[in-house]
Amino acid sequence: MCISLKYNNPDFLLNNMQFELILPKKIIFGAASVERIGDEAKKLGDGSTLIVTSRGMIKRDALRKMIDSLNNQGINSKVFYEVDPEPPIENVYKCMGFAEGADVIIGIGGGSVIDVAKKAAADLDTKKIMIPTTAGTGSEVTHEAVLKVEGKKRAFVDENLTPNVAIVDPDIMKTMPKRLVASSGIDALAHAIECYDSKRSNLLVKTLAFEAYMIIKDNLRKAVEGDEKAIGNMALGSLMAGLAFGNSGTALAHALSYPLSNEGIPHGEAVAMVLPYALEFNGFDAGVIEEVKGIIRDLKLGRKIKGGIEEMAKVVMDDKKHLSNNPREVTYDDIVNIYRQVVKGV
Ligand SMILES: [Zn+2]
Repeated sequence: MCISLKYNNPDFLLNNMQFELILPKKIIFGAASVERIGDEAKKLGDGSTLIVTSRGMIKRDALRKMIDSLNNQGINSKVFYEVDPEPPIENVYKCMGFAEGADVIIGIGGGSVIDVAKKAAADLDTKKIMIPTTAGTGSEVTHEAVLKVEGKKRAFVDENLTPNVAIVDPDIMKTMPKRLVASSGIDALAHAIECYDSKRSNLLVKTLAFEAYMIIKDNLRKAVEGDEKAIGNMALGSLMAGLAFGNSGTALAHALSYPLSNEGIPHGEAVAMVLPYALEFNGFDAGVIEEVKGIIRDLKLGRKIKGGIEEMAKVVMDDKKHLSNNPREVTYDDIVNIYRQVVKGV
């Protein structure tokens, strides 16, 4: 599969006429947009919110600005910050315990925080506003939450997980550590490419994914170096990739990454380790694969695999959700072969 859009092919358009899109009711993008949280929370609830975040966010400016904005509208807020990286479902249960009395749940953080906040809000049937601090998982606009159940990552997919409002403020992404910018940026790149080629893709998704890919590939290296304009562009690219993959799903690279994250490798790094191999297996455009490899090499992402390849391959084979999206049929032997290549680094 080559990355190109076939706008002029009437058959292509006709063949893609059946699809559905699930999106937040409102998306607010722009510098300082986090300060609009008070207005938005007021429209959705009666004046009591739970903010879900990570321990690392507690002293950050963005959280203070958000609480100020809520206070200005007379909205009470409690803060729950006990979210682990690659969070277990137990984080959600604990969060739900803290949420008593809140009619709006606000998640501000990376994908782990947002997934916990979304799942807690969906299970409690409260309104939800999501604000990403990384570019990113795109989780602020999807109806999916990935959580560990008995030590294994599992993707929950449900329309009720869709946020009511997503606020994407590039300003709050400017102080993130370099390695986090790199790994979350590669995740966004993987979302764009994988959903472009997903069996569930359609022309709307492909259009978003194509533009997201172009933005991310041109800006990720500069964003890691701290270029503020590039960080803003990455915020937009990751949002667009999120809108796309939320409606087409990801595929083989994400399936291969889950067993690595079960061992503790952060999601973006795990995706970076397997993405070029998955694209090669799928017969993706060679030029794009070289481009992706170059970015991953420059960002120096990747860690050693500790687990047994056969065991990991079994976990992947059970991941019907991702494998059914993949453009090419995958067997157990294929997966073992790919993991062997990853280990060798060929
Ligand atoms: Zn991902």
